[in-house]
Amino acid sequence: MTRRRKFHRRVYLGILRVQHLRCACGCAQRLTRKEGYQFDHDRSLGLGGDDSPENLRALRTPCHLKKTQAEAHRRAKADRQRKAWLGLKKRRGRPMQSRPFDTRLRKRMSGQVEVRT
Ligand SMILES: [Zn+2]
Repeated sequence: MTRRRKFHRRVYLGILRVQHLRCACGCAQRLTRKEGYQFDHDRSLGLGGDDSPENLRALRTPCHLKKTQAEAHRRAKADRQRKAWLGLKKRRGRPMQSRPFDTRLRKRMSGQVEVRT
């Protein structure tokens, strides 16, 4: 995952100005100090977004929370896929047996092994 950087105050102020101090989630409500606002990665870092000022936007704290929660399952899936790709995923249990097993034998439901006829 990309590391989170800090930017100069100027960068954040620029973002606020571009958004006319309104929330970028679509609710278009004013960002207030009382309610709080946070800088969010529009394409989140966990989903391959980059940590650049262009990917940042200001959201009201309640909106940011909602977005973060909504992304949780997508983030979890991306993590799983990344791990599988890197071969870090642990196998659960014993892999299913596949050929070549001895096809001359068969196993009954009782567990008894016998020679096929
Ligand atoms: Zn909003």
